[in-house]
This record gives sequence, C-alpha cells and structure tokens, in this order.
Amino acid sequence: MNNDTIFDKIIQHKITADILYQDKFITAFHDIHPKAPVHVLIVPNISIPTVNDVKIHQEFILGKLFTVAAKIAKKNGIHESGYRLIVNCNHHAGQEIFYFHMHLLGGRFLGPLIVPV
Ligand code: AMP
Repeated sequence: MNNDTIFDKIIQHKITADILYQDKFITAFHDIHPKAPVHVLIVPNISIPTVNDVKIHQEFILGKLFTVAAKIAKKNGIHESGYRLIVNCNHHAGQEIFYFHMHLLGGRFLGPLIVPV
C-alpha cells in the first residue's frame, strides 16, 4: 500500500478524521473544508492515485463507492432532494489529493455542474 497521501493515513487511523463509515473495502469521512451542508469523501481502502490508474480487477471495489454513497445520502436525508457525486482526475479537474476519492455533496441546491468561464 502507498502510505504517502493523507487519505492513506486517515484510512489507517494514523491521523484523525471524522470517519462516518468504514468496512473492509471502503472508508468515508467528512471533507475538512465542506463546500455544501453535506460533503463527504468516499474512498477505496486500496491506494489508487487517479481514475487513470484504475485496473479492471478494481471495478468491484469502485462500484461499492456508489452503494456507500447512496447509504450515506439516505442517512443524511438528502437522497430525495438530490446530491452530486464527483471524482476529479488530475490538474484540469482540480485534483489535490492523489488518492482516488469520490465527493458526495448535497443539502442545498448545487447549481450548474461547471461554472461558465
Ligand atoms: P480533490 O480536489 O478532488 O483532490 O479533493 C480533495 C479534498 O480533500 C478537498 O475537498 C479537501 O478539502 C479535502 N481534504 C484535504 N485534506 C483533508 C483531510 N485531512 N480530511 C478531510 N478532507 C480533506
């Protein structure tokens, strides 16, 4: 396992985070700088830097990100009002942490997906 990123350390409980879900495959924790009333990061427990690095045998575990996201959305009461799932890849998408993660955002109207420039 790559131990370089902050998310590796969160998953391994080496640094504290507000973890709201963890199982054998997936960990979810609150984003430290929330952009919406609900802003949760959902990550696989295996280290994958970006979407570009995903391997076919990892499809199962990445599929689980969606079922965990739906569970968390329901628990937070935003499953009917709606929410957005985002995975950033590399510089143009603004990826800051090079450990594959899915953002779950909701709890308010989120506006357009991409702000026109
Ligand atoms: P991205 O731009 O997709 O790489 O998103 C990285 C996200 O990680 C940002 O929304 C940060 O606020 C969040 N973040 C960075 N450090 C931490 C941390 N220690 N605990 C929780 N979230 C973090």
